[in-house]
Amino acid sequence: MLRSPTPRRRLLTHSRTPRHPAPPCARILVLALFVALAAPTPVRAASAKASAVATYHVHLTSDPLRVTVTGTAPVADGALRIDDSWPGDIPPLESVGWCGLVRHLRVTNAHGDSLAVTANGPRGWKLAQSSPTTLSFAYEVDYSQLERLGWPAPREAAYRDSANLVLAARSLFASTGASGECRVTFHLPPGWRASTPWPAAKPPNTFVAPSTRDLVENLVVLTRAPREDVVVAGFRVHVHALGTPPALRAQMRPLLESVVSHHVGLLGSPGRSDYVLALLPPLDGGGESYRGSFAASLDSLPDSQSPATLGNLVAHEMFHLWNGWKLVGADYASTQWFQEGFTEYVANLAMARSGRVDADWFRSKLAYHVETARQLTTSLEDIGTRKGRPLYSAGALVAFEWDVRIRQATQGRHDLGGFLRALVRQTNRGARAYAWADMRAALEATAPGDWEAFYLAFVHAKASLPIGPTLAVVGQTLIEAPDGHVIILADTAATPAAKRLWSGLLRSPGN
Ligand SMILES: [Zn+2]
Repeated sequence: MLRSPTPRRRLLTHSRTPRHPAPPCARILVLALFVALAAPTPVRAASAKASAVATYHVHLTSDPLRVTVTGTAPVADGALRIDDSWPGDIPPLESVGWCGLVRHLRVTNAHGDSLAVTANGPRGWKLAQSSPTTLSFAYEVDYSQLERLGWPAPREAAYRDSANLVLAARSLFASTGASGECRVTFHLPPGWRASTPWPAAKPPNTFVAPSTRDLVENLVVLTRAPREDVVVAGFRVHVHALGTPPALRAQMRPLLESVVSHHVGLLGSPGRSDYVLALLPPLDGGGESYRGSFAASLDSLPDSQSPATLGNLVAHEMFHLWNGWKLVGADYASTQWFQEGFTEYVANLAMARSGRVDADWFRSKLAYHVETARQLTTSLEDIGTRKGRPLYSAGALVAFEWDVRIRQATQGRHDLGGFLRALVRQTNRGARAYAWADMRAALEATAPGDWEAFYLAFVHAKASLPIGPTLAVVGQTLIEAPDGHVIILADTAATPAAKRLWSGLLRSPGN
């Protein structure tokens, strides 16, 4: 959900409740465990020869929580940047962005001479003199102010408990924008290790991010707790379940095996081998997706939430690997109905197809979307900066409509997955951002239909989706109570063809 009226850059945030400060229990047990470390690497003169590789050394320091970063990078335009994404609802960072966490910045040239820098708003700093080809830098990132505020943006900025420090890398790494690979070495206390979505290298705790974007748009977890790796479909998920009861942790492996298998079966390999998943203690429900990682939390522990709630959240955030990071809309605001709505629908399908829930759960999800979508006051395209539950549900219903229409038009030979694969091809495997014309071309390649008319009525304008008739096509009946409550039931008189379409909908791809 976009919580800032002027987001600087897109975030794949999925939050269901208003943010509130972390409870005191999230702030205890943390101070004494970050012991003093080896002294930070001093700023060294870099090679005079520019290199396409940036190097970083990250030192976890003592309490209060401060992380020291040193590094070298080639220079492009005399600027040292820090990611200018929205830094959560953190008042001290509202105007200065992530720069508000940085202390004691020192920049030197290849000869070790200090270079003066001037602040450049939330974008970072400018060198006050002519640019060298390579620069070295050292700074401290002070997360203690976030701790004092009770970790106000645990998924979007940082969070820690007694054994883990979860960091959004955009708060940690400054860059020049001129490097390709970024080589990161973490210097940690004995018993600690780094968990990242990047390939490991030598020496230990060293990783190579393929690009600056992949470096900063990800999560890093520094931990002394056991980490559980779930390997499925050639994909390794590093699971960090903080403050989570064993019963809930035990659900993660079968859940991830099911969800990742489903998503890979639908759209193929995600194109990376490692993924970091941080499940934070109950704070406020929601998730934040990054290029190869996500942070999520539930509203409360599962004694009051069914396992399906966690499963759907995980399935949703993981599908953003494909829909949001691989498939990217050319215009952010007007494509959120697709990014969030279709991701939510695929998550619902993944759960229904997993056998972890029954068909009634899927029906109740559709009914929830019908009720919630009614609250959308704009067209799907015209949300401006509003991105809440009504948009997610309205987008999910469009996905359901297309799924059914495609299946009906092709007698069940094709489905929404075929359309999504066609869109991947249409965009040259995500190399080009999509617009409606790309969706239309992908739809037309998948099944016949007047897709332009659908778009004009239900996406561009604000006509109500014909959900009742569409449900009837797959043998389901929509019943609305006088108070507006919606129930969806199986129609016992449905035709065999309708029943086949419904059972096909709930069958995993490839089965
Ligand atoms: Zn989302």
